[in-house]
Amino acid sequence: MGYTEAEKELSVYESMAARFDVAARQLKLDAGLYKYMRCPNREIIVHIPVEMDNGTVEVFDGYRVQHSIARGPSKGGVRYSPQVTLDEIRGLAAEMTWKCAVVNIPFGGAKGGVVCDPEKLSRGELERITRRYTAEILDYIGPERDVPAPDMNTGEQVMAWMMDTYSMHVRHTVTASVTGKPLDLGGSRGRREATGRGCMIVCDQALKRFGKTPESTRVIIQGFGNVGSQAARLMYEAGYRITGVADLHGGTYNSRGIDIPALLEYAHEAKGVKGFPGGEAAESCELLEQDCDVLLPAATESVITSRNASRIKARILVEGANSPTTPPADEILFDRGVFVIPDILANAGGVTVSYFEWVQDRQGYFWTENDVNDRLKHIQVAAFNDVVHYGEKHNVNNRIAAYMLAIDRVAFSLKLRGIYA
Ligand code: GLU
Repeated sequence: MGYTEAEKELSVYESMAARFDVAARQLKLDAGLYKYMRCPNREIIVHIPVEMDNGTVEVFDGYRVQHSIARGPSKGGVRYSPQVTLDEIRGLAAEMTWKCAVVNIPFGGAKGGVVCDPEKLSRGELERITRRYTAEILDYIGPERDVPAPDMNTGEQVMAWMMDTYSMHVRHTVTASVTGKPLDLGGSRGRREATGRGCMIVCDQALKRFGKTPESTRVIIQGFGNVGSQAARLMYEAGYRITGVADLHGGTYNSRGIDIPALLEYAHEAKGVKGFPGGEAAESCELLEQDCDVLLPAATESVITSRNASRIKARILVEGANSPTTPPADEILFDRGVFVIPDILANAGGVTVSYFEWVQDRQGYFWTENDVNDRLKHIQVAAFNDVVHYGEKHNVNNRIAAYMLAIDRVAFSLKLRGIYA
């Protein structure tokens, strides 16, 4: 059970670096900039002592990797998972730099993580882990430095605790220190749905290229957390036929289309999609290979590898998760003509609305949901067109085009700034 095959093809950092190398070669990137941009600026490792509910003390490992501040404060989520490693966080931090550059928002990239299993922790334990982690990295974060946000297994409540801890230390409320907060604490309208909405926006653009409509499009979604469930809901409302949904514990398939509002209600009660009466039971890995038009992996990394890529039947791959496809799988998908919308473009809706949240917090003036959604659409459609045109012009696939576009933008900022000595 689970999303990934036991043996990993390449680590997240290795995958990122392999793509970076291809893009850098295509760009004929200067050797010094190549070395500079391939590794992170700063890596922070902390060991967090926490008093558990039973009175014992546990120590959790935590990381925050800041890959780049070339274009602005570093930006990126914090994940809680037993699988977190420094290598993973390092790779995802670099991906955040490229993601922010692809959508052209004024941030660098970072990522954080704590090695823990939130399913086994009480609310109080989670709060204490969050506050101590925040306190340990406090000198390195802040609205002008590095701005954390939600990621896997973290959400609005964790962000509220992070913002409060930061604020208590500096002795005034700094809502812009963190994004993805609850609406009543300086959060932005539309942030919760933003990543899923962004996936739909780029998928709509891809359909236009293929002359298809949402009604004639079957979608399979892997992952039913924040990204997968919001994408499912919004796409269902827009007329897409969602034929399969899987989460960590199992999946459901219905060729006529799943009733997504009913599935949302069921998953809320049952704590997962497994056993949903409106579809047939299916394993997560089977669903990846099931016939469909759009495959939307929205769970975790390295689920599409050289071992299953040749069996993927979707024509369009929308990467809601970070790094769901390994570089060897990329080549197979490309040869088979799959239109890949890479993670740093497809799931950039989250960080884009995080940017809007940061702007609103700093202005103390909050936008309507329509404003947020319109601006998000504007940014993601422009980024989609930039990537696709760049790829056509340079005869590279969408993934390498996105990397090239991003690396070129970051390199330009670095050249303008020079190296401080
Ligand atoms: N964790 C999300 C991502 O991977 C959002 C990051 C943010 O909003 O800063 O893009």
